[in-house]
Amino acid sequence: MSVVIVGGGLMGLSAAFHLRRADPQVAVTVLERDRVGAAASGASAAGVRVMGRDPAERALALESLRRWPELDRELDGDTRYRRDGGLRVAVDDAAWTAAPRWVDEQRADGVPVEVVDAREMRKLAPGLGPQCLGGVFCGIDGQAEAMPTVSAFATAARRLGARIEEGARVRGVVVERGRVAGVERSDGTRIACDVAIVAAGAWSATLLAYHGVSLPLETRALQMLLTKPAEKTLAPVLGCFDRKLSLKQLADGSFLIGGGWPALITDDAKNEWEILDASVRASRTIAATVYPATAAVALARSWAGLEAFTADDVPALGPVSGIAGLLVAAGFSGHGFALSPAIGDILARLALGLDAHDALWHRLCPDRFLEETR
Ligand SMILES: Cc1cc2nc3c(=O)[nH]c(=O)nc-3n(C[C@H](O)[C@H](O)[C@H](O)COP(=O)(O)OP(=O)(O)OC[C@H]3O[C@@H](n4cnc5c(N)ncnc54)[C@H](O)[C@@H]3O)c2cc1C
Repeated sequence: MSVVIVGGGLMGLSAAFHLRRADPQVAVTVLERDRVGAAASGASAAGVRVMGRDPAERALALESLRRWPELDRELDGDTRYRRDGGLRVAVDDAAWTAAPRWVDEQRADGVPVEVVDAREMRKLAPGLGPQCLGGVFCGIDGQAEAMPTVSAFATAARRLGARIEEGARVRGVVVERGRVAGVERSDGTRIACDVAIVAAGAWSATLLAYHGVSLPLETRALQMLLTKPAEKTLAPVLGCFDRKLSLKQLADGSFLIGGGWPALITDDAKNEWEILDASVRASRTIAATVYPATAAVALARSWAGLEAFTADDVPALGPVSGIAGLLVAAGFSGHGFALSPAIGDILARLALGLDAHDALWHRLCPDRFLEETR
């Protein structure tokens, strides 16, 4: 049996790793048009959270978070994962009043979140700004680092015998008599396969459109800011109700600031973007409100990543009906990084015809979007 994966982001690499680990007899090839991690995965803020997720992907996130503490050992790599919790703060009365209901709704699905008052909150994160009224804490949330995680998955997949071709752009999946027969590179060469997995991030819809399959994805560029190192003071990942913020302090003391601020897409096809000054200013303002120490440090670097969003903000994961052997994993809507261990496992199981733990992902099935025009 052979499987070809289009896209060397985290989802494709995780699928390759899980496939070879589950069955060393299966030939696995990853085709990446650039280099691994060149798009969303390498640009990611790498937050590993279950707090605040849509109910449709909570079980999947819980399963993934169960895997993260052991992931370095599984991969024999270093994702720089650490579990110091996630704290989402309220900076206005409306958010603070709504926090208990937000918590109850998630706890009903087994997400271990709790309301923390101003005193407890400041014990978890001394140095929070005076505007922070209280928050919600999730002790199993945490953080990793983007490129180290990409490298750890790629190295582990290669070690187990997956072939990863970089600089290999795919033109389309070859479908014969209603089933996948192979994948065609843009230089016209083909690889025969039984199963093709489209995990091409923001470019997945274009590949599927080749077969008249319409997966409505909207591409957005998300901005990240990295400061110079500062004194180490912050352990949990900080977020903020009703404001765009994700704030972490990395091992060297630098602050990584994101949360969904937009950059400008200058060339979608070429994965090119420009940082917007207005987003930088707004991002730094909310970071400084929540954690004033960030205001005192200069920026070291800024970048963006192109990410595919679905209309309901949860991914499309699973088989494409009408084309046997075609699987898709796309539309992670700004929060796929944390899910990568579970996504790779599910894709591998689906490809191999094993029990794919349907309860974890049935609400994410691409059929909810696909209009078959074939
Ligand atoms: C700035 C930013 C911050 C984020 N922060 C978080 C966070 O804190 N927590 C979280 O959980 N998630 C976060 N996310 C989301 C997460 O990073 C993504 O959901 C995840 O990385 C998506 O992985 P992927 O493999 O699906 O896509 P990608 O990483 O985009 O990979 C797709 C790959 O396919 C390749 N490709 C495309 N077309 C072709 C083709 N025709 N032929 C061959 N290869 C092709 C691309 O070059 C690319 O490498 C963030 C995303 C961004 C952009």
